[in-house]
Amino acid sequence: MASAFVDKARISVHAGKGGDGAVAFHREKYIAAGGPDGGDGGRGGDVVFMVDDNMSTLMDFRYKRKYVAGNGANGMGKRCYGKDGETLTIKVPRGTLVRDTVTGAVMHDMSDGKSWVAAKGGRGGWGNMHFATPTRQVPRFAKPGLPGESHDITLELKLLADVGLVGFPNVGKSTLLSVVSKAHPKIANYHFTTLFPNLGVVYVDEGVSFVMADIPGIIEGASEGAGLGHDFLRHIDRCRLLLHLVDVSGSEGRDPIEDFEAINAELREYNPELAERPQLVVANKCDLLGDDRENIERLKSHAQGQGYPFFEMSAATHVGTRELVRECARLLATLPPVVYYDADYVPPEPTVDTSEELSILHDDDLWIVEGPWLQRLVATVNFSDYESRMYFDRVLREAGVFERMEQMGVRDGDTVSMYDLMFEYKE
Ligand code: GDP
Ligand code: MG
Repeated sequence: MASAFVDKARISVHAGKGGDGAVAFHREKYIAAGGPDGGDGGRGGDVVFMVDDNMSTLMDFRYKRKYVAGNGANGMGKRCYGKDGETLTIKVPRGTLVRDTVTGAVMHDMSDGKSWVAAKGGRGGWGNMHFATPTRQVPRFAKPGLPGESHDITLELKLLADVGLVGFPNVGKSTLLSVVSKAHPKIANYHFTTLFPNLGVVYVDEGVSFVMADIPGIIEGASEGAGLGHDFLRHIDRCRLLLHLVDVSGSEGRDPIEDFEAINAELREYNPELAERPQLVVANKCDLLGDDRENIERLKSHAQGQGYPFFEMSAATHVGTRELVRECARLLATLPPVVYYDADYVPPEPTVDTSEELSILHDDDLWIVEGPWLQRLVATVNFSDYESRMYFDRVLREAGVFERMEQMGVRDGDTVSMYDLMFEYKE
């Protein structure tokens, strides 16, 4: 049953390859040799992530692991461009963290409603129409498209909620959520009824509301992976306030103080920061207490002794729930906003093995340089960034490309074309 809920998934995303440019010549009746008119290849499709608020788990990623966007079509004669490859859109629940699997670094936090490009499609190659000049009549040059980006990605769901409910199974977490919000979590008198996190919006007053998350029950040993709980603790990572529900009715035959300490130990074990998170201790099922207030008074002085604010309620009979909600709103107003994760992923410098000799062709003042490693390099270097351009220049220099061109007679001001890069040669 526990595996029915998935909040971590490892996938790979592959953007499409750019289409190749076309080598084509304009042909018309009575014209012996027309000019070059080969069109450009289309762009490879991107892989894009989008938030879908109807999703609450990463279950969809359990069986499908590989995501591939469409390739760009090749260019054609008559200056026809190849069609761009189709974008692949991947829907994820709000609060999904995208990490680079290899380094664990955060690539993106899917928390705002904006879509995010996870892998960029390769640029299309240029058709030979680009290489036509009055003096250069028959450019047989066209450029292959560039490969698209690929990434191994780990998705991690960290719900966006202001208030997180924690506590043993059956203490009344789902009941509370259903009473104070319009959410309809499953409520039943047995353990582990909550297998999926439930989010509910709690309206307090005009213009005042917050999001409450009911996560599957934490059980002892959960932080060591012994039970269900471990994975679920991830969800409350972002909660600004924790409501720690304790059953004081004794109906489960357990001791409230032991329960309270066990849950806090779990939180600490999982993430010490979580144990420091503002926490409101809530004694539930007070309707069952009758005159015997021993349990509740013991828990109260225990919790207050540790500095926690303390609340009594009965979720089932709604006693104290309004007051609790107002207290949550009051506290939230004093707490820092929900944490958004900043991306700290740094794309690794492309490693290129430059031992393979490049092909250098020239037609008058146009130089065409090609080869597999150069193609990969051009596809990965970000030419709008100065450092990256310097790196690119250094790799070419060290590989002896310019040296060879000089031996072949390249002159200042000649045009050099490397895939979709075109620049003037400077000595
Ligand atoms: P969860 O596992 O913490 O989500 O607990 P549930 O909300 O599913 O509740 C477990 C059981 O306790 C259900 O049978 C509820 O009806 C019952 N329950 C919840 N709150 C109260 C309460 O305040 N008083 C009483 N008597 N029963 C409650
Ligand atoms: Mg529940």
